[in-house]
Amino acid sequence: MRKGLFIVISGPSGVGKGTICDILMKNKNIDLEYSVSMTTREKRDYEKEGVHYYFTNKMNFKKKIENDEFVEYAIYNNEYYGTLKSEILSKIKNGKNIISEIDVQGAKQIKKDFKNSLLIYLLPPSMDELKNRLIKRGTETQEQIEERLKTAVIENRNTYLYDYIIINDDLVTAVKEIESIIKNKIIDNE
Ligand code: 5GP
Repeated sequence: MRKGLFIVISGPSGVGKGTICDILMKNKNIDLEYSVSMTTREKRDYEKEGVHYYFTNKMNFKKKIENDEFVEYAIYNNEYYGTLKSEILSKIKNGKNIISEIDVQGAKQIKKDFKNSLLIYLLPPSMDELKNRLIKRGTETQEQIEERLKTAVIENRNTYLYDYIIINDDLVTAVKEIESIIKNKIIDNE
């Protein structure tokens, strides 16, 4: 049986990864399954356990690292984030196409370990616009926003690792571009 694709969406915090993944997941023409990551960061008000993330503490996360339960994991702004083997391996083996929001460190690992990967990097139209989006989102403190913007500058240097770079200026256009990339990759994989 053919294996499913591992589609990775990366990009700086606030660029719109979550919104774009939500729209892609609702598209009946492309059958995608969302990979729910595990994290140690605090839950935001609108987030639901097991839907947006599996939330846990650092001790439990480290225990899972020791038990080799992650396909990949990374430390992002002092918090752990990782993809559980139990979340994706059997699905990929059974031909499901998985989509996941993963940072640059994790994407490197996926590229190395999964032959059937598709790596897409989202860029904001400008760093000023990114800052505005983060402020408008209102889920981080001023200090955390500054940290995330610093991380964004470092992450944006790694776009060369990716199969595609999409600028999320107009959401509808960005989604259309990504849908078309994914559809073509699915056809190639069949
Ligand atoms: P946030 O705290 O904004 O939800 O996520 C912070 C960063 O962690 C984002 O770049 C997001 O893509 C990344 N991230 C989320 N889940 C994972 C994961 O399972 N593995 C890795 N490596 N990064 C993740």
